[in-house]
Amino acid sequence: MKNSLITICLIYFTLPALAVEVKGVRIWSGPDQTRAVFDLSESAKYKLFELDNPPRVVIDMPQSALKNQLNIKKNKDIKKVRYSNRNDQLRIVLDLHQKLNSKSFLLKPNDTYGHRLVIDLSSDKKPLNKTVEKVTKKNRDVIIAIDAGHGGEDPGAIGAAGTKEKDVTLTIAKQLAQTINQQKGMKALIIREGDYYIKHRKRFEKARDHDADLFVSIHADAFHNRKVNGASVYILSQRGASSEAAKWLALSENKADSIGGVVIEDKQDVLSQVLYDLSQNAAMEESHKAAQAVHSSMKKVVKLHGQGFGQANFLVLKSPDVPSMLIETGYISNPGDEKNLKNPSHIKKLTKQITDGIRNYFYQSPPPNTWIAAQAKGKKHIVQSGDTLSGIASKFGTSIAAIKSTNNKSSNIVHIGEILYLPN
Ligand SMILES: [Zn+2]
Repeated sequence: MKNSLITICLIYFTLPALAVEVKGVRIWSGPDQTRAVFDLSESAKYKLFELDNPPRVVIDMPQSALKNQLNIKKNKDIKKVRYSNRNDQLRIVLDLHQKLNSKSFLLKPNDTYGHRLVIDLSSDKKPLNKTVEKVTKKNRDVIIAIDAGHGGEDPGAIGAAGTKEKDVTLTIAKQLAQTINQQKGMKALIIREGDYYIKHRKRFEKARDHDADLFVSIHADAFHNRKVNGASVYILSQRGASSEAAKWLALSENKADSIGGVVIEDKQDVLSQVLYDLSQNAAMEESHKAAQAVHSSMKKVVKLHGQGFGQANFLVLKSPDVPSMLIETGYISNPGDEKNLKNPSHIKKLTKQITDGIRNYFYQSPPPNTWIAAQAKGKKHIVQSGDTLSGIASKFGTSIAAIKSTNNKSSNIVHIGEILYLPN
């Protein structure tokens, strides 16, 4: 008894009297900034300053120590991370390739991470590379913003086999953009290009800055019941969710900003809120049409979750004037869906149907001055039983090749109910 008491005292006195441990670092780089996230054992005091020759950012943390070595991979902004410990003060130095502006803040723990110190590095704002064709050019392409959900510090949902939603959404978004860019009159704008986080508001702002005609956010979320599977299309609801599942989904989705590392959204003033609501109503109507078109195209090849259509208060869909939808491509928590979402041939099938749906929407509701608006003025034919492509071509005095080109069709097979736009 006496012996064990002595042992306990010894251990107690040999523990360092440091309050904070720095446990590791993650670096995420996007086109506009690089984010360094330090994991801390608890909230910490720190001082940050920038130095020149060579350019570097210094972080001093009193009463702190490093728990693990800080290793980083090759990065476009950070050359290396150094550190030293003196009088219980930890100094971390980020050596930079060039002078950058730094911003830093602390984040409280959430479901995914504990206390964090976030440092954002960015150069002075570059002029926006805006697509000017929209106003000036006639017969312009429609622009479809493709947003891969989550990213960087925010992995999104995680499947049973360890698949991260942020990776699935990026792969699908890239494939979707490629398929869209193969369509005449349509052009994709990729919102997230790599593994980094963009806050919800920035996502639709990027779409607006580039005059997008449609915003599509790609997701693959989880549900606590692993049996639940299937895809769904969602649009914004300002009143309430269409179902408990939709409400739950929007709640978990909207948390992404805090996981990804965003402090607090600035509040809008009353006047801008009124204008915002007005223009959003018009966009809502278009969102509904576009989502319906994608939904009916997707259901031809993909299993839907229930009706596969819902509404909820998703922050990422709150663009005031760009019609927006969120596509849940499947439940990553369901082993079957998880497998499909990693299968290239499934992704190809899925993205083709989404593209067809988007295309059908734009033919129904073409924005003015677009190539599609010029096409949609022409006649269309709904394929009936017994129709063949050559029969339709001769009936309307055109050629098979011309019909195929107008409709971006590669095969000569037509299906009953298919809408064919006839060349002008
Ligand atoms: Zn998601």
